[in-house]
Amino acid sequence: MTTLIKNGTVVTATDMTPADVLIDGERIRAIGLGLGDSVTAETVIDATGRYVMPGGIDVHTHMELPFGGTFASDDFGTGTAAAAWGGTTTIVDFAVQSYGETLSQGLDTWLQKAGPKSHIDYGLHLIVREINDSTLREMDTMIDRGVTSFKLFMAYPGVFMVDDASIFRAMSRTADNGGLIMLHAENGGAIDVLVQRYLAEGKTAPVNHGLTRPASMEGEATHRAIALAELAGVPVYIVHLSAREALTAVREGRSRGVPAYAETCPQYLYLSLDDLARPGFEGAKYVCSPPLRTADHQADLWRGLVTDDLQVVSTDHCPFDYKDQKILGKDDFSAIPNGLPGVEDRYTLLWDGGVAAGHISPTRFVELIATAPARMFGLHPRKGTLAPGADADVVVFNPDADRTISAGTHHMRVDYSAYEGRKVRGNPEVVMQRGNILVQDGKFHGQPGAGRFLERSRFGPGPG
Ligand SMILES: [Zn+2]
Repeated sequence: MTTLIKNGTVVTATDMTPADVLIDGERIRAIGLGLGDSVTAETVIDATGRYVMPGGIDVHTHMELPFGGTFASDDFGTGTAAAAWGGTTTIVDFAVQSYGETLSQGLDTWLQKAGPKSHIDYGLHLIVREINDSTLREMDTMIDRGVTSFKLFMAYPGVFMVDDASIFRAMSRTADNGGLIMLHAENGGAIDVLVQRYLAEGKTAPVNHGLTRPASMEGEATHRAIALAELAGVPVYIVHLSAREALTAVREGRSRGVPAYAETCPQYLYLSLDDLARPGFEGAKYVCSPPLRTADHQADLWRGLVTDDLQVVSTDHCPFDYKDQKILGKDDFSAIPNGLPGVEDRYTLLWDGGVAAGHISPTRFVELIATAPARMFGLHPRKGTLAPGADADVVVFNPDADRTISAGTHHMRVDYSAYEGRKVRGNPEVVMQRGNILVQDGKFHGQPGAGRFLERSRFGPGPG
């Protein structure tokens, strides 16, 4: 099966050039100007006026995550279909070690959830809840099974949080085994004291979720994480960075030579504490951790994406229905399940607010949405770029299409959109994975179970 994508502008992290793309089976065979004049293919896609870009790679999703007595509303079936609709062809989700279980048991549970359902290729990180001699040893085994990154929490005491000694021990292990430690960096101890104090004072509305998780406590934890990585002599990756104070800690670490990396998410670029303060209970739709910040943080995050102090934009996709899940925290903001839907919207939101608005170039867009995450998480050069030999994960993107984001038209299994009514420019018209068309002409052609588990390599050189 061969496919030719003709007359488009091919964009990679380094180049933007008119070219045709020839796909043979699951891989790209050739890219070149006028290629279509000399070869024939069984399927031809006309990309006149379109950008031809790599499929998106979202390295932070939580399909079916158990949290706060319920489960994220998208499973690997609905969530990966929605991802494909939005131009994302690979996710890296998080398997979770349960207390008293081995890391292998956590990984096997998530492989069983994802395998039969996933429409797109997927990798897994592992959330480690207990650091001891046996879990440290098991990290090596996980790496052999293609799980090369481990997430630890500095927040959620009693649920996920591990102490500094555990973080340092895990980091020291990755100095030997080549794994990458990812951190949720918020000072969970101080935050929990604030939460209890607010609740005791009768402050129960959703906005208090944001007010009890101050930016300074994200800055503090980020600084601590980077200092520990420096001591262990290893790279470190800060997930879902939301605050200027945390970005400053990353920038300072990088400027003294620490391989510190960080991602941010669309919600921190486009939404703010004002959304969390919406009247009534509506703010619950915007409860995620770290929380949405005041709007003045957004310009700093955009600058971080330009200067490469932030290298990745992921979603932290973790949807909960407003009507029957977010409502669990009706009288207590701390009981609102944490998380926002986003896996479907990332590609176009970053294009619209980033490229169309003039913050970043199309090549930088590709780097943030696909190439850098692929490099950092051991998927490059097979994924994250358009090149001969790479998987044919391709998006044909119409930069002139206007549309409006809405829960009425999105494909995520959740009853609201965090961006309801937002007008965006740009649409992933054709989405392919390994040469197979997943989306075309507004129709979905994916198959549950067609997505494959990706055994990832060890952390490679950083981006750029
Ligand atoms: Zn997360």
